[in-house]
Amino acid sequence: MGRLFFVGGNWKCNGTSEDVKKIVATLNGGQVPSKDVVEIVVSPPLVFIPSVKTELKPEFQIAAQNCWVKKGGAFTGEISAEMLVNMGIPWVIIGHSERRALMNESNEFVGDKVAYALSQGLKVIACVGETLEERDAGTTMKVVAAQTKAIADKISSWDNVVLAYEPVWAIGTGKVATPAQAQEVHAELRKWLETNIKAEVAASARIIYGGSVNGSNCKELAGQKDLDGFLVGGASLKPEFIDIIKAAE
Ligand code: PGA
Repeated sequence: MGRLFFVGGNWKCNGTSEDVKKIVATLNGGQVPSKDVVEIVVSPPLVFIPSVKTELKPEFQIAAQNCWVKKGGAFTGEISAEMLVNMGIPWVIIGHSERRALMNESNEFVGDKVAYALSQGLKVIACVGETLEERDAGTTMKVVAAQTKAIADKISSWDNVVLAYEPVWAIGTGKVATPAQAQEVHAELRKWLETNIKAEVAASARIIYGGSVNGSNCKELAGQKDLDGFLVGGASLKPEFIDIIKAAE
């Protein structure tokens, strides 16, 4: 059951237009595996997307980092899914832990956003993950299952969804989950999909890992059976992002 390896680069709220030019030059200069080996999606801050989209090689697709929960209108500061589609942006990241924590996005709100984005024709990188307190309390699976269920309850197809398991304690901390820890949750998530959705979805859904992935730890993580790629934050702004993409080989 060939699940195409997926590498996402989440640039978050970083950089100037000069920084972005440098990153684009680095990415364009890198040798990356072909499209049948890896799908690569970078997610610049929204204002930089038009220039990045024009300048980046076609091997790299673009994702927005967020979009609004329903049709656009009187929602100051928001960007609608229709606008992303209109601008030719194929992907969007939804439910990142920073938005869940800092903007109080609930599981239900994230589920609604995923459903609306899919209904408009976007592909979605949907993020789930537990905090350190939740892990220490032994509730990791309960938390990520509830987050996944809130999405599953609102959608009818998983074809255009990549599920990103991102333990909050590993994001931006330099504290990466061990390959065994990541594999354990990925396998449980796949089992959850099998039990609660169907076997075909469990077999074909890509479950990617995020949280302090870098050029040195990516290879061993990529070797885990149920790990189908990465969502990379900090290291996606550096030349080592190319090495992480090559972990697909
Ligand atoms: P990090 O971020 O790689 O900097 O830990 C990952 C993410 O937030 O997607």
